Amino acid sequence: MAKLLLIILAVVVLVLWFKHMGRQRGEAGRPPAPKAAEDMVRCRVCAVNLPRSEAILSKGRFYCCDEHRRRDG
Ligand SMILES: [Zn+2]
Repeated sequence: MAKLLLIILAVVVLVLWFKHMGRQRGEAGRPPAPKAAEDMVRCRVCAVNLPRSEAILSKGRFYCCDEHRRRDG
């Protein structure tokens, strides 16, 4: 009986470990690149710098949020 519990425990640990590894890979492998190497762009309205992947692109201009995109027309 103790052996069975040990096997169940091992399976649980393995599952948790795989989930943990999968999460790490998901964050590291997110496109386009590691955050440090990501291009920074500037909002045309408030001039805040933000990663290109988080910026809103409209007509070749970058904005930090949808409100600023609309305000700039
Ligand atoms: Zn802005």
